[in-house]
Amino acid sequence: FKTHPAIRGFFEEGRRIAYGARAISEGGFQSLPKLTFPGGMLVGDTAGFLNNAKIKGTHTAMKSGMTAAEAVYDALAQEGTKEVTSYPEKIRSTWIWDELYRVRNIRPSFRWGLWGGLAYSAIDTFVFQGKAPWTLHNHDDHSQLRKAADCPRIDYPKPDGKLTFDKLGSLFISNVNHEENQRCHLTLKDASVPVNVNLALYAGPEQRFCPAGVYEFVKNDDGSDRLQINAANCVHCKTCDIKDPTQNINWVVPEGGGGPNYPNM
Ligand SMILES: Cc1cc2nc3c(=O)[nH]c(=O)nc-3n(C[C@H](O)[C@H](O)[C@H](O)COP(=O)(O)OP(=O)(O)OC[C@H]3O[C@@H](n4cnc5c(N)ncnc54)[C@H](O)[C@@H]3O)c2cc1C
Ligand code: SF4
Repeated sequence: FKTHPAIRGFFEEGRRIAYGARAISEGGFQSLPKLTFPGGMLVGDTAGFLNNAKIKGTHTAMKSGMTAAEAVYDALAQEGTKEVTSYPEKIRSTWIWDELYRVRNIRPSFRWGLWGGLAYSAIDTFVFQGKAPWTLHNHDDHSQLRKAADCPRIDYPKPDGKLTFDKLGSLFISNVNHEENQRCHLTLKDASVPVNVNLALYAGPEQRFCPAGVYEFVKNDDGSDRLQINAANCVHCKTCDIKDPTQNINWVVPEGGGGPNYPNM
């Protein structure tokens, strides 16, 4: 993107000042999970309240937090409440529900490509005002990866250090830090899958979709491959948990307040 002749000029005199990553929770209305459980509630992006048509979710995160607080306040008046079941009902009566309902078909319509998605979205928004009598379904991201043998090989140019940078150089300015001597927070359900399936069939996609270079296929002394997990580099974007084609990676919470440290946020 940055090296495209039409874009290049905007960045050429620029300076890289920060680096970070985070997956967008784009499922929206039709992917909302059950919002409560005994002792807890889901608010903001954890619930999936992001308006994916606008890629904005700060307002819905704040509103759902406020609504959750009101529901907890009501529940405290009743003795013995373990699960705040009034919260989902309250959410349904806020503008969050209406807003997410109206944009629910936008993201899934891009299955028809950029122009198909844009054309459908214009019709859904301006003709049906977001109230079309159907709902397009989402799909799991991890099921959409094609096998390497079915795709052309892309040879990316080496980073030039001006417009494009290597991952580890960029990672340095995310100020990522984890407590040493802790158990790896990126666990594999089956340690043989990365080499036998991911590398063999998909050319090791975790090497590319991880923005922090956490996953590396390295050679053993006997020339065989193995996956090395550099967990200390993880910027907690959660992409691997979502995109791993075999769903073999299980991201668990690391110890303490570890992770990236974005000083300007
Ligand atoms: C690239 C990008 C651009 C965006 N642009 C916009 C925009 O322009 N306008 C807009 O409104 N929205 C935008 N959004 C969406 C917006 O950032 C989110 O919808 C919003 O931040 C969600 O707020 P939240 O409080 O639910 O979650 P978050 O902001 O993700 O906050 C969750 C917090 O919990 C912390 N945390 C996670 N696990 C633990 C743990 N185990 N212990 C303690 N803390 C933990 C995290 O570090 C994080 O600080 C954008 C999102 C992305 C990724
Ligand atoms: S290991 Fe996973 S969560 Fe961590 S930076 Fe890489 S893709 Fe993101």
